[in-house]
Amino acid sequence: MTARIIDGKAFAAILRESVAEHVSQLKQTHGITPGLAVVLVGDDPASQVYVRSKGKQTIEVGMNSYEYKLPADTPESELLALIKQLNLDPSVHGILVQLPLPQHIDEALVINAIDPAKDVDGFHISNAGLLATGQQAMVPCTPLGCLMMLREYCGNLTGLNAVVIGRSNIVGKPMAQLLLRESCTVTVVHSRTRNLPDILRGADIVVAAVGRPLFVQGDWIKTGATVIDVGINRIDQGDGTTRLVGDVDYDAAKEVAGAITPVPGGVGPMTIACLLANTVTACCRAHSLPEPKGLAA
Ligand code: NAD
Repeated sequence: MTARIIDGKAFAAILRESVAEHVSQLKQTHGITPGLAVVLVGDDPASQVYVRSKGKQTIEVGMNSYEYKLPADTPESELLALIKQLNLDPSVHGILVQLPLPQHIDEALVINAIDPAKDVDGFHISNAGLLATGQQAMVPCTPLGCLMMLREYCGNLTGLNAVVIGRSNIVGKPMAQLLLRESCTVTVVHSRTRNLPDILRGADIVVAAVGRPLFVQGDWIKTGATVIDVGINRIDQGDGTTRLVGDVDYDAAKEVAGAITPVPGGVGPMTIACLLANTVTACCRAHSLPEPKGLAA
């Protein structure tokens, strides 16, 4: 069996189009332009690339983009004051603080200072709690993108065995909550799990968010399973060049799986598209307007 390739780039392009249409309607019908504020502290090169990309795509879908670039030695109190100001600004519907933050800043304190209604990353404890209790939440972008692709490829997820590898707050845990909400039978495996390959062999859905290159072997995958690879790992090819790979041994897994996301071009592009979708959702909620279909979980 050779798996269908889940084209995250194409998915993301469709989602961005839908976001752009909703933005245009909000402008024309209500005179509202959704706004996303992105805050970057320090000069981490990868973070700079992400922030640039987020700003560019925000503008492309017709939203307002506000970028705040602060030096690495910015005091925590100054960052908290900026967040307070953005919380109060009615033209800002979404606030994202790019992680990681410099060592001297308490990440949890900063995330939890964001108004939960503007927390488009979905990392605030209120949003984590709302999601865990099945209430309306801002859902973290990467798991949201994974869910959208799973729904498209698997249809109804009810009763399927889903195994999530990794228990981080930003991917593994919210992914498990979303799959539970879809009535999957969910198992979360992690670094201390025993017999991980055996557990995976029973999975109809595998979501890998480990951060270890090519960790998931082809013979751990059940025939016909849907495999979502969240991992982004840069590996040395031994000839002075590097390449990006996921957490799944893609070449082996695609011979067994029913459908699989490639890396790059799978989950990655969906993450920013979901950030834009979350900003439109936050804007509609802020103005008590009906939420556009297909943009939220
Ligand atoms: P993390 O380091 O916070 O969590 C990794 C998880 O993997 C941990 O819960 C740990 O228990 C588990 N783990 C580690 N070793 C294991 C092992 N041997 N067996 C089983 N489980 C093991 O990472 P994260 O932030 O959740 O990110 C995971 C991966 O996803 C990384 O490669 C990251 O770059 C990538 N990522 C991609 C996107 C995207 O947009 N595509 C977004 C976020 C993260």
